[in-house]
Amino acid sequence: MTTIGNYIAGSYVAGTSSRTVPVMNPATGDSEKDVALSTAKEVNVAVAAAKEAWPAWSKTPALRRARILDKFKNILWERGEELAAILSSEHGKTQDDALGEVTRGLEVVEFAIGAPHFLKGEFSENVGSSVDSHNIRQSLGVCAGITPFNFPAMVPMWMFPIALATGNTFILKPSERVPSSALKMAEWLTEAGLPDGVFNVVQGDKEAVDALLANPDVKAISFVGSTPVAKYIYETGTSNGKRVQALGGAKNHAIIMPDADLDMAADALMGAAYGSAGERCMAISVAVPVTDAVADALIAKLVPKINALKIGPSTDKASEMGPLVTAQHLAKVSGYIDAGEAEGAKVVVDGRSFKQDKQGFENGYYIGGTLLDNVTTDMSVWTDEIFGPVLSIVRRNSYQDALDVVHKHDFANGTAIFTRDGDTARNFSQDVEVGMIGINIPIPVPMAYHSFGGWKSSIFGDHHMHGMEGVRFYTRIKTTTSRWPSGQRTEPEFSMPTLG
Ligand code: NAD
Repeated sequence: MTTIGNYIAGSYVAGTSSRTVPVMNPATGDSEKDVALSTAKEVNVAVAAAKEAWPAWSKTPALRRARILDKFKNILWERGEELAAILSSEHGKTQDDALGEVTRGLEVVEFAIGAPHFLKGEFSENVGSSVDSHNIRQSLGVCAGITPFNFPAMVPMWMFPIALATGNTFILKPSERVPSSALKMAEWLTEAGLPDGVFNVVQGDKEAVDALLANPDVKAISFVGSTPVAKYIYETGTSNGKRVQALGGAKNHAIIMPDADLDMAADALMGAAYGSAGERCMAISVAVPVTDAVADALIAKLVPKINALKIGPSTDKASEMGPLVTAQHLAKVSGYIDAGEAEGAKVVVDGRSFKQDKQGFENGYYIGGTLLDNVTTDMSVWTDEIFGPVLSIVRRNSYQDALDVVHKHDFANGTAIFTRDGDTARNFSQDVEVGMIGINIPIPVPMAYHSFGGWKSSIFGDHHMHGMEGVRFYTRIKTTTSRWPSGQRTEPEFSMPTLG
């Protein structure tokens, strides 16, 4: 049994905690390693290393920082499959999906390499007589990232490339369910030339998170995970004087209008509801077809596709959907289907009956794709984030009623509409109170140079992630106003200086 530890000041460091949890391979249900859950003392050692590294790193020319990240990006291009295999073995997602995740993370590194441009300040000459004014963006200091299990490489890369490029040092606390990808990225950053202590990894759970929240040397925290934890981290972090961006859970709806291309919508829903076994914060978990005729036609198209889903381990290239992350999560997802059925939803396709018969994988955490019809907004399958391959159909008879369903939910991460009508699409994108909108696009995840974030209970804090929002989050503005003596006599001024 290997015990996974931390990465501090440029080296692997064995965990000293007596608390460990097994790291499972969800495809097989086996575990050959565990992870040591860091104590507050270990976290504080990492923070001290990051604090020590910050003055030199923050003063390193931005172009030099960018060149190190450029080398890291090249390593990701060359060895992305290695990282994808590591994350699949702990998360369970298919190899292609994992490689896609690595690539979407790499794109943030590409964006961050442009930091010398983003950090350019603004200058105004002669704001008063012989008085000039300029502002610059400076780094904050030690920043921390606390990340969820479902994107072990991409979500950390929403954070640290921009934090590092703008001159901060960083502590990553990955999910204890998927601890290895963070260590591999740390190793590759060191290989790319990152000075020791600039990027550190501490494994752990609430104890490690609480140590980061309590440490006054941590100036900012980026969090992605479930809404109750996001809220806790936002409230605790901000009350401790830190800058916090905390992204939470989701329940993403797709409205399907009568004029939609139904084949396109059905294919889009397959990927969006069942890809990555539904364990995506941008998964579509509710379809809202407008009119019963559209609902019936959509269901007729979906059922054979769901029944034909190839469900298997990531090591099988043919797999379209992998297992869920843990046995507990499998029981939870299955329990939601039980509850939906008990509350009156019609189970059109029942994933609970799926049995994995591939040799060696019989004990993996597999469940089949599930389709529930006649779901109403008082059922737990609608109110709660299931985070599994379960698509609920909520029938409505008008666009306005469908929009009301979207608005009724507390989560507002992403949403989509399928229509051929420009007016409806435009109204939807203008009026819907959700952070990320797709028009005939099921998972509208913004590119690295735009920003990612939801609204309402899907986010706590003012800044979305990556793109210019990332640059704003990881920097603060300083404005200098200057006058140089030029022989001109000045008089004391006792009132507010104005141009008059
Ligand atoms: P989670 O909230 O259980 O864990 C996220 C992180 O918080 C982990 O690092 C974990 O160790 C830590 N944590 C867990 N409980 C804690 C506690 N009580 N106190 C302090 N820290 C704690 O989330 P998860 O199950 O790993 O990930 C799935 C969730 O993440 C889903 O709700 C999903 O929607 C959400 N998510 C959101 C986005 C987004 O961009 N909005 C992206 C990905 C995932």
